[in-house]
Amino acid sequence: MKVFKGELKNIDKNIIAEVTYNKTVFNRRGKAYVGSGISSSPFGYSVLITDNKHVSDKAKSVFIIENKDLADLNEGDIIHIGNNGLLTTVWDTKSDSNTIFPTASCDCRCLMCPQPPQKHDDELYYIAMELLDRLEPSKISKICISGGEPTLLGEKFLNILKKIKERFDHALVMLLTNGRSFSDFNFAKEFSSVNLSNCLICISLHSDIEELNDEISGSKSSFQKTIQGLYNLAKFRQKVEIRHVINKLNYGRLEEFAYFLYRNFPFVYHVAFMGMEITGYARSNYDKVWIDPAEYKKQLENASKILHRAFLNTSIYNIPYCLLTPASWLFARQSISDWKNDYLPACDGCIKISECCGFFSTSGKFVSPTVSKII
Ligand code: SF4
Ligand code: SF4
Repeated sequence: MKVFKGELKNIDKNIIAEVTYNKTVFNRRGKAYVGSGISSSPFGYSVLITDNKHVSDKAKSVFIIENKDLADLNEGDIIHIGNNGLLTTVWDTKSDSNTIFPTASCDCRCLMCPQPPQKHDDELYYIAMELLDRLEPSKISKICISGGEPTLLGEKFLNILKKIKERFDHALVMLLTNGRSFSDFNFAKEFSSVNLSNCLICISLHSDIEELNDEISGSKSSFQKTIQGLYNLAKFRQKVEIRHVINKLNYGRLEEFAYFLYRNFPFVYHVAFMGMEITGYARSNYDKVWIDPAEYKKQLENASKILHRAFLNTSIYNIPYCLLTPASWLFARQSISDWKNDYLPACDGCIKISECCGFFSTSGKFVSPTVSKII
């Protein structure tokens, strides 16, 4: 998700619009006309986005950004301009990692949360619904819903799903959730009754030990609720993925965790072991949560093999090849969203670079010191 700071001119309310570089005679409503050096707003567009700092004071609805930022706006992108002077690309036509964020609030406080929860702002829900109205169904093959914890919106969350069912039922829907809301049988039932054709519910679970899980999630009842949620979803034959973010508190039990999963949740569709993104709480709790993947690579290989032998689809996300044992490479995926994916100077000449997930650009300098190219 790209965000640009700019100057608002004669804009008195938030705007959602589709980017266009083409001046047409008709169909200007709901469009953001983008152009360099333009001095007045063309009639009928929702907003003019330009780099011209001397645009007329009388020009209606103008957003002025730096010239270098203009090039990052693509024909067909959906953008949101807020009265805080921020332009956010809420749907990037060139990205395969677009995500809907209907809320930033959450009922957990995970020690390594990359996007620390905030108070719910209904504008996010409004953006999500507008977005789903504006996207062209034939161009959409995947929709990811994340947060915060999107299920906390209750009825509004279900409205989002119903809209997806109505317009995008051909698409893969990935829901990222802590799973707690599904401990409510009726909520799990309502969710299932939307009957999305291809929905994967990706649920984070931090440990096979209740106390440890709850310490990591920062919420006392998390383990019980998430487990109950998993079983309720299984009753409704929903497709579930378990996500396990590896950190300093839980890395020592990877093999036990794998046995716990295959004994208790043989119905899950996929298990993902995940490296951490060192931003948000993960950065402020760095000393408490950071562990170099090189230190647990053998345990991770063993855990992956335990699940693989039990015929559970298993993947490793966000951990580069050089921090895994060669025996784990078959589980490694290019999992990092394109807009925050990066490589290091040390990667130059590595034979695995085209397959490797690389690093989160958001993690900054917080990377393993043991990265070294594979030759
Ligand atoms: S990582 Fe934890 S705290 Fe952050 S949004 Fe997800 S469940 Fe909530
Ligand atoms: S050196 Fe870079 S490209 Fe090669 S495996 Fe390591 S992180 Fe990946």
